[in-house]
Amino acid sequence: MQQDIIEKYNVPGPRYTSYPTVPFWKNENLSVTQWLSTVNKNYDHFQSNEVSLYIHLPFCESLCTFCGCHKRITKNHGVEKPYIDAVIEEWKLYKSKLPFQPKIKELHLGGGTPTFFAPEELIRLVQCLFETTHVDPAACELSFEAHPNNTTERHLLSLYDFGFRRLSLGIQDYSPIVQQAIHRIQSVEQVTKVHTLARKIGYTSISHDLVFGLPKQQLSDMLDTVAKTLALRPDRISLYSYAHVPWIKGNGQRGYDESDLPQNEEKRKLYTTAKQALEAAGYSEIGMDHFALDHDDLARAFRAKNLHRNFMGYTTQSTSFLIGLGMSAISDSWFGFAQNDKSVEGYLERIEKGEIPVFRGHILSEKELVIRQNILDLMCHFETTLHPDPRYQAMNDQIKIDLQDLIADKLVCVEKDTVCVTEIGIPFVRNICMAFDQDLVKNVKLEQKFSQTI
Ligand code: SF4
Repeated sequence: MQQDIIEKYNVPGPRYTSYPTVPFWKNENLSVTQWLSTVNKNYDHFQSNEVSLYIHLPFCESLCTFCGCHKRITKNHGVEKPYIDAVIEEWKLYKSKLPFQPKIKELHLGGGTPTFFAPEELIRLVQCLFETTHVDPAACELSFEAHPNNTTERHLLSLYDFGFRRLSLGIQDYSPIVQQAIHRIQSVEQVTKVHTLARKIGYTSISHDLVFGLPKQQLSDMLDTVAKTLALRPDRISLYSYAHVPWIKGNGQRGYDESDLPQNEEKRKLYTTAKQALEAAGYSEIGMDHFALDHDDLARAFRAKNLHRNFMGYTTQSTSFLIGLGMSAISDSWFGFAQNDKSVEGYLERIEKGEIPVFRGHILSEKELVIRQNILDLMCHFETTLHPDPRYQAMNDQIKIDLQDLIADKLVCVEKDTVCVTEIGIPFVRNICMAFDQDLVKNVKLEQKFSQTI
């Protein structure tokens, strides 16, 4: 990859876990009524009672300074019970307002650190969901994020008993220097212990999450981390680009200097070197940031063009309705987005008052729904077709104009109305999506809104 191409496209840009992206949401004070009207619209349109559930468990004992998640750092485990009570209450509130009896097709426990919670609290949460809602564990994807430092055998066994078969382990990088810089100290021995135990218990899809572009990260660190990861042969590997957004995360990310971060070609090399090693070991690149072995459901879904993506990441379940429970969680009815209160106290207070705790969101226009589908297609399948309706002709013409540079640089090709990402264009898929993004076309300043695309 030429240095000038990398520099040209290394600009601030969204990761497109949603379209419109959060900084461009228009309903700053979204009401529960507005939000639920989009939920009703979803049911009228899709006539499906299947839902994906994301539960945000925000507590962590120690702050990792690279982290971009909504979390609360505490060593006080007295917070567990009231929080789980509130999540259970929130689910009951949803159930009383939904126009149908929900059937859970997908459940993901994320955070924060889900394994901060005692197994008994997680059992209480999942048991309550399963007792009050239709769920068939055999036809449902159940997964959780496991911190290698505090995941116990009891966590693994109790969630396995409910039907959980998938977990992701946050690794980042094994170098002690990098670990110190990001304040996340964990040994390969500890990761191996949790990974091996999970395998022994019967977990069939284990993912390891790596990050490139971290402070003080050298090429040799990346190679060593990948080698140690491959030795355990997880089914999936995420290779995330470190998102440096100190204006959002404040001092948490300012524990190191900008000069400690690998830049441009150096950063891209970390990615390409890791990618080559993963592909040589039999992993295929799936969508953006993800690799999987051929037998894994994600790889199968990618090959069959059934891959879907929502706020939880890539998924094999294509439900059109995601409910996010917990502080800061985002829900998605396809026709609208809603985010819960972003502080633990605010969230608990709203639940106490018997309110669905959404505070902001966005209701999509018809045009935005078309763009949303285009961007989702690009992110999941690396190709999309422009909408044939003449009402979108002017928009499509503009998209083709905005793609010209990317076409000239051979990162994308357009045949009639089909847009395909080329092999060398894959790392630039965020830039390609930006050509479809009508909010960005208006030339808003993107610095202080998004991380760099490369
Ligand atoms: S990376 Fe995970 S464990 Fe670390 S602070 Fe963020 S959410 Fe907590």
